[in-house]
Amino acid sequence: MQNWIKYKSKKEEDCPFCEICNIIAKNSLAIPFDDKYPIAEDHTLVVPLRHTPSFFDLDSHERNACLSLVDEMRQMILKKDDTVTGFNIGINDGIDAGQTVFHSHIHIIPRRKGDVANPRRGIRNIIHNRRSY
Ligand code: AMP
Ligand code: ZN
Repeated sequence: MQNWIKYKSKKEEDCPFCEICNIIAKNSLAIPFDDKYPIAEDHTLVVPLRHTPSFFDLDSHERNACLSLVDEMRQMILKKDDTVTGFNIGINDGIDAGQTVFHSHIHIIPRRKGDVANPRRGIRNIIHNRRSY
């Protein structure tokens, strides 16, 4: 909890996503851009313009803008790359959930048949010793 509070007060000037939003954004509440360290081709981030660490601090307009962009980017990726056969959509919300950039964002991770040996359970694999059910 203490770490989370520390990052909540982090200044926007230190934030790489605020920097990108300031360059790209015109009249919207959220923007998409490529993840700088992609874990799959076309790994994309959807980022609200307003700097807030948690997705749950966003208002309904901002959340809707983010989710519309997730839809739009999914369609765009499917159109340009017919090897994409699935997606993982995810939010790391909080330091203990693995968040490293404390400007809320949604990951769109395209998946392709055979990209890992056994894709079963998807995001359940984030906690390795609890993935069975
Ligand atoms: P998270 O760990 O959920 O906070 O995700 C942060 C994501 O931001 C990671 O996937 C990084 O690869 C990505 N990232 C970090 N810095 C940048 C940057 N300057 N531009 C674009 N993506 C970034
Ligand atoms: Zn920011």
